[in-house]
Amino acid sequence: MGTIKNLAEGITALLKGLATTLKILSRKPVTEQYPEYRRPLPARSRAVIVLTRDPDGEERCVACYLCSAVCPVSCISMQSAEREDGRRYPRWFRINFARCIYCGLCEEACPTLAIQLTPNFETSGRDILKLVYEKEDLLVNHGGKNNEYNFYKRAGVAMVGDKGTQINEDKPVDLKSNLP
Ligand code: SF4
Ligand code: SF4
Repeated sequence: MGTIKNLAEGITALLKGLATTLKILSRKPVTEQYPEYRRPLPARSRAVIVLTRDPDGEERCVACYLCSAVCPVSCISMQSAEREDGRRYPRWFRINFARCIYCGLCEEACPTLAIQLTPNFETSGRDILKLVYEKEDLLVNHGGKNNEYNFYKRAGVAMVGDKGTQINEDKPVDLKSNLP
């Protein structure tokens, strides 16, 4: 009795599987002719990394090494340098895209919005050394996802003007107003 029941269950499962196959076979295939057709990707897709500039056209990166420290595969390296006015910048900046896993942690860690991931994923190639990008390959002439943010206007090398005159800075406390 048990054998007949098992056989019936097996045949039912087989027929169900065949029915699913037939149903899928009758569907119209969806074929996208890449690269002639490029499916628009969401703006937050994570692929090739760029180094952006602030609204004054200066490179945002201050070579703080945070992105390099947080990178789980250690594919970011740089050397910091300082301008005459005290502003830091990377003398060189290198990302090995052959190792990058596009996790986005470097972008999360960056205090100046300098490093940003873009939706551009078309970087495959036969020569693995061409996937090592230098600063001149990474630096772009815009602010990426935020063109307004200017790190140095908030925490620059020298603050100009009285307290309360900087962006988002509170006015000085009037001690006399606290007297009873
Ligand atoms: S996206 Fe991730 S793996 Fe790639 S450089 Fe940034 S932190 Fe490293
Ligand atoms: S890209 Fe950002 S986190 Fe990385 S060194 Fe430059 S300022 Fe620091």
